[in-house]
This record gives sequence, C-alpha cells and structure tokens, in this order.
Amino acid sequence: MEFSVNLQGKTSHEAILLRQDSELRLLDLMKRCLMSKLKCDREYAAALSAVATQGLKMDRSEEMFGSLVASTWKTMMEGLEDTGKLMKQNTINLETKVLDSLNNLYAEKRKIKKFYQEEYTKIQMQLTNISEEVNRKKLEYQKYLELYKLTRTKFEEYYVKSGRGGRKLDEVRDKYQKACRKLHLTHNEYVLLLCEATEFEKDFRTALLPDLLQHLQNIQEATIYCWKQLLQDITTMSDLTSEKFKKIQNKIENEQAAIKRNEEYTKFTEKFKTSPTEKLDFVFDASLTEDSAVKFLPNQLTVDNLTIDWLRNKMGDLESSIAESEEKRTSLENAIAKSPIINGKASLADPEISCRISMAQVHKEREIEELKCSERKMWKQVELIKSALNELGCEEVPSGCDLSLDNQTFKNDSNEQTPDRHTVAYKKNFGTKKVVNILRKQFRRKSAPSSPTAPPRTKFRRDSSSHSEGAEAVDSWVSITTNKSLVEEEWFHGVLPREEVVRLLVNDGDFLVRETTRNDESQTVLSVCWSGYKHFIVQTTSEGQYRFEGPAFSSIRELILYQCTSGLPVTGRSGAMLIKPIPREIWELNNDDVVLLDKLGRGNFGDVYRAQLKNDKQIYAVKTCRGTLPEDHKKKFLQEARILKQYDHPNIVKFIGICVQKQPIMIVMELVSEGSLLIFLRKHGDNLNESHLMKMCLDVASGMMYLESKNCIHRDLAARNCLIGQNNIVKISDFGMSREEEEYIVSDGMKQIPIKWTAPEALNFGKYTSLCDVWSYGILCWEIFSKGGTPYSGMTNSKARDRIDAGYRMPASPNTPEEMYRLMLRCWEYKPEDRPNFEQIYTVVDTLCKTFG
Ligand code: AMP
Repeated sequence: MEFSVNLQGKTSHEAILLRQDSELRLLDLMKRCLMSKLKCDREYAAALSAVATQGLKMDRSEEMFGSLVASTWKTMMEGLEDTGKLMKQNTINLETKVLDSLNNLYAEKRKIKKFYQEEYTKIQMQLTNISEEVNRKKLEYQKYLELYKLTRTKFEEYYVKSGRGGRKLDEVRDKYQKACRKLHLTHNEYVLLLCEATEFEKDFRTALLPDLLQHLQNIQEATIYCWKQLLQDITTMSDLTSEKFKKIQNKIENEQAAIKRNEEYTKFTEKFKTSPTEKLDFVFDASLTEDSAVKFLPNQLTVDNLTIDWLRNKMGDLESSIAESEEKRTSLENAIAKSPIINGKASLADPEISCRISMAQVHKEREIEELKCSERKMWKQVELIKSALNELGCEEVPSGCDLSLDNQTFKNDSNEQTPDRHTVAYKKNFGTKKVVNILRKQFRRKSAPSSPTAPPRTKFRRDSSSHSEGAEAVDSWVSITTNKSLVEEEWFHGVLPREEVVRLLVNDGDFLVRETTRNDESQTVLSVCWSGYKHFIVQTTSEGQYRFEGPAFSSIRELILYQCTSGLPVTGRSGAMLIKPIPREIWELNNDDVVLLDKLGRGNFGDVYRAQLKNDKQIYAVKTCRGTLPEDHKKKFLQEARILKQYDHPNIVKFIGICVQKQPIMIVMELVSEGSLLIFLRKHGDNLNESHLMKMCLDVASGMMYLESKNCIHRDLAARNCLIGQNNIVKISDFGMSREEEEYIVSDGMKQIPIKWTAPEALNFGKYTSLCDVWSYGILCWEIFSKGGTPYSGMTNSKARDRIDAGYRMPASPNTPEEMYRLMLRCWEYKPEDRPNFEQIYTVVDTLCKTFG
C-alpha cells in the first residue's frame, strides 16, 4: 500500500502524525522496559552466582565418596554459575548494543516526524498562498472592472456633452484610459495567476505531496528494518536456549544420565564394608526363679487364678490385634498389587513414576514388613499362651497364692493324727458330747452300707493290682447306688473353698469332689492330692455327659467311680490317680439339716439366726452368707469358721460346723443367750455393779490370753463383737478380721477399719500384733465401764486419731476403779512395746476381781 496514493487526505495526514507519536512512545516504552530487564537480569545473574556458591559448599565428607548424585549436583551448581556469568555478559551486550541502537532509532524517528511535518506544512502553505492570491486577484479584477465601467461611462457622458474637446473631457478620458489599462493588466495578471495556480495545484497533487509521502514511506520502512534488527538483538541476547546455555544444560544432563541406582553406593559400600549384625539372644535369667518361693519355670507362662483371666484377656487382645493387623496388611498388599510398578505398567527405570510412587511404595512395603513382624511376634505370644492354657487341660486353675504354709502345717498335723482324727479333733475342740454324737450319727448314716430296702449297690473293680492299698480303700468307699445323687456322696464337699479342701487331702491319691463358681458359672471340681494338689474341672460334653480326658458318663458319680476303678490317671499330664475318697468332715454339715428359726441380728455377710439341727433339740446361732456376694467374700466369710474351728475356750464363741453343700453357706455356732455385749451393756448397764463389770473384763482378758497363746490377732476386739451368755459370761466373737500370725501387715488398704478401737501403729503402718488387740482391749474395758458408751464421743474418727497421736487419752468413766483406769492407760501406751500383754493383763484384772470379790 502506497502512502503516496492512499494517504493524501487531511485525516490520513493526521493519522500519520499520530502514528509517528505512537511509535515514538513505543520506542520509549521499549527503552524503559529494556533497562528494567537489564536490571533484573543483572540481579538474577548475581543471584544465580550466589546460589551456585552456596550449592558448591556441599558435604565433601568421606561417606559421600563415589557418589554420582553428589558429582552431578556439583556439575549442576557449576552450570548455574556459568549460567549466571552468561546472563551477565548478555546484559552488557544488550546495554552496549541494543540500548544504544534503540536510542538512535528514537532520535531518527523524531527527525523523520519533524521533516515530514515541515515539508507537508510548507507545500500546503504554498497551495494556500496561491489560492489566496488568486482570490485577491479576482477581487482586484472585479474592482478594476467596475472602475473601468465607471470611467468609461463618465467619458462617454463628457464626450457627448462637450464634444470632442475640453479639459474636463481630457481628464475623464485620461481616467478612462488609465482604468482601461489597469483592467487589461489585471485581466492578464489574473489569467497568468490562474495559470500558475493551476500548475501549482497540479504539482501539489501529483508531485509534491505524493513525493513527500513516498519519501516518508521509504524512511519509515527503513526504520522498521532497524527496529526489527533491534528486536532480534534483544531476543538473541536474552535467549536462554542459545548454544552457550545448551552446552551447560547438556553437560548437566550427561552427568545426570550417568546416575545409576545400582552404582550410586558401590564405592561407598566397598569403602565402609562391615560384617553382618550379630545375633542377640534374649535368655530368661534363671537366677530370677532359683530362690523364688513361688515355682516359676524359666520361659514358661504361669497359669493360675492370679493370671488366668489376664492371660485370656491378653490372648484375646493379641488375637484381635493380629486380626486388625492382617486386615491392614491385606489392604496394603492390594494397594501395592495395583501399583504400576508391580503390575508391570511401569518400571523403576521410569524416573517420573519412580520418583512419584517409589517412596510411597517403600513406605507401604515397610509397613507390611513391620506388620508381618508384629503379627509373628503376636502369634508366638498367642501360641505360648495357648499351649500354657492347653497344658492345663481340664485341671482347675491352680491357686497362684495358695496358703501353702497353712497346708504344710495342716499336713504335718494330719500325719500325726489317727484315722479318726476328725472326730477326735472335734471332740477335743468342742467337747460337747451331745453335738458330737449327733454329728457322728449323721456321718455314719451318710457312710453306712445301704439298707436292705435300698437299691442294690454296684461295686466298681480296679483293673490295676498295683494299687492294692487304694483298692481296699475303693472297696470300702466306692460303691454306687444307682439312684444316689452326687450331693449324697460322702466325698462331695459342696462349695467348701479350695483353701479348706486342700487341708483335707493328706496322702497321694486322696480325693474329693466339690463345687466352685467361676464367672457366675457353677463348676464341679475333682480335687486330688498327687505330688501337691490338682484340681480338675468336670467337663460337660455336647451330649450333656461328663468326662475328663477319658470316656464320658451320664453322671459325675459314675465318672468319679470310673476314675477310681480304672486305675487310669485323671489326665495324662497330671498322672493323678484316685485312691481314697475323703468324706466330709464332721463339721461339714448338711444345709438341709439346719432349720433356721428367728433372726438374731445382722452381720457383715448376712443375717444371723437362731437355728436347730435335725434330730437335736439344742438351739444354735447360725450365720448366713448372702448367695449374691462375690466368691472372695464367701471365702472371707468362711475364714471366721476356719479360725474358730481350732479354738476351744469358755470365753470364745464355739464353732459347731459349716454348711457348704449349697447356697446360702452357713456357719453354725453355739448360741450365746444374751447376744451382743454392747446392747446388753446399754440395756442393763444400770443393774451391773463394779464387780460384774470387772468380771466381764476378766472374761475378755482370759479369752484374749488364749488367743495370744495361739498367735491369733483378733483385729476387731470391741463390745459390739463380744457376746454375753448365761451368768453374764462374755465370749469373744466375730473373727471375720482375725489373723493367725504373730504380726500381720495390711497391704490392701485400710478400708472399714474401726479407727477408734485400733492402735496407732496399725492405723499408721498397717502393722498388727497382739499388742494391737491390747489397745482395743483398753477401749473395750472403757466401753464396759461406760456401760456401752461411745469412745471419743463427739469426735470424728480422724479427729480422734489426730488427738491420740498428740497424746490425748480418754478420761475414765464414772465409777471406773482407779487401778482399772491405770490398766487402760497402759493398754493405750503409744509404743506397743510399752503395753502389757494379755497374760499380764489377765493377772492384773484377776487380782482386781478378787479385791472386788
Ligand atoms: P456378727 O456377724 O458376729 O457381728 O453378728 C451379728 C449379730 O448377731 C451380733 O451382734 C449378735 O447380736 C448376733 N449373734 C452373732 N453370733 C451370735 C451367737 N453365737 N449367739 C447369739 N447371738 C449372736
């Protein structure tokens, strides 16, 4: 498109000028931007150098020896440094070459604009001038034409008026001639001017303006070439993909390509090579079990009542942890199976995928391996627990904390006893002939051969002759009437606790059957003496039959009799043989033989009743234990019977027997007619004189002296725990807290401690001796002389405790004999060793009683 043809108009001219302005602004903008870019590039180059310097300060420790990654990194940093240098050079080039050219171009452009503007104005002015001149000439022409016409008219008038002469005519003629000449000249000038103007206009249009435009186009286009060159220079000098940069890039890429995962650590491994990790053995330290009173076996789990629940829970926990772990592991394994690397869609050689997923995959694989290890660990533990539990077979869980010392004592005693030891012991203890005879009768009735009217007995024969002694015993014991129930068997001991049962089993082969409750479930247990004590739970088959390891029977009696006669051990592991059934002790009474009458009071474990035994008119006191109480409470309940069973003293309530064949379990004891001493004192205190009260203190001292001699610590001596009988005889009762030990340390908290009756060392350190009972005896004497008063009345337990520690002692109640109060104060000496013992107390009180006569 030619400027000369297309841009002749006025608007085109204005557009040209605006375009030129715009171009100048663009150049100015480019200049400013280029300068900014140069600044940026300079800074960037400097920054790259700094980064490279930092990157080159890499770890050059020996451990990085031979690392291809480290070497590549070095090359990359050097490349970065070179890149910085190249960029810096480019900025210099751009500044010196391009920026100068840009400035020149700008100046040139300004000049072009100026030239065009001036030229255009010049020719345009010429055209305007000539046009104006033509107009002026035309006006002149018109003016002279009018003048001509006027002068001619005047001449003609004068000519006519004055003829052909006269001065006036000459004047008019002269003017006419001048006007005529002027008109002619003007006419010619006008014609010539028009000719000139026409020519100029033609030139303007066809030569001057097109020529100017053509010229302008040429120089404008010429600058475009420079402009283009300039842009190319900028581009070239800013090109980061130029050969120089490429060279750096290639060097780095080559280094990177040389990185090989299997070569990276070759030199390192060679340099730091060591031998494989040594095996670490975890061995059970046998010295731990050598001196132990408990018989732990190294590396073997101990299964007993202390550990069984824990073991089962532990096994449950482990199994659920294993299941959880397996589930987690399976889902991880599935996730890995779907991964592109594993299913062959990609390989580790594919760097993009490798980088993206290998770490995640490694994490998963590690996790799987860890889960496997932990599962193996847990399985091993489960196996260990399982085999320990299986070892137990049908054996009842052994007691982890058996009162083995007691058992030992019992065994020694028993060995010395004659076969009739139960009766003898009982006789010795309780003396009441009548009671013995009744019980004997019951006992005989239970063990007597069946009457002629009774169903025929089935004799069980032993297969083995090696147990001739046992066979005799079996012959005498093992007979079965087909309709006899287990409960009717002499060797069935009901719910007699295991601690009691083991006292009855003396020789290997002694056995009995009992019941126990575990997790609210009643179980029948065969207890056997066989190198210690073994307790086997009778297993119930799905058909409702009973068995141990051998055949199953429809009744437990038949099962036991089979075990007796077959000569086979109850379980292969235990080797325990049943030789001699141990019948119920004379004090193991039948629940059904006890007839409860009216209620006497309420004890810790249940109500206390007046009761009668069948075929006996005598009235007894019977303590019952609520069936709903937990098993360990029942054991504690029977603890009182166990202690009382051994004692025979007029001032200690007498034990008759226990009923453990079924619930509720009961303790039968002598009825002490007036009941609780405390209530008696409160009710009848006013009728009691000093000598009565002294006698009561003497009775208690006598009973306590007896207990002291038996190493029995009562721990709850108080008026509420003494009974009063005929002739105001006081008997010590309530042995629920008693212990047969010289010293007893309480470790399971001090719950339900009778604070106001308990000695400071027992309260402060849980240390009980008979001298603690002495302190309580002092309080009891105070209760007696205060006729049922409340000790430390108006003080809380803790207040009383604090005051005692601070030295306070209760004052004597009115009418307390001085000597008796002195004795009380001696009983309340802070240090136990400063207190008198019961033997001394008895002597003092006895002397005093005699004085009061
Ligand atoms: P205990 O469980 O020993 O505290 O007895 C609670 C209550 O039953 C006592 O306070 C007496 O009233 C009464 N009691 C306990 N044993 C006998 C007994 N052997 N003779 C008479 N009453 C008794």
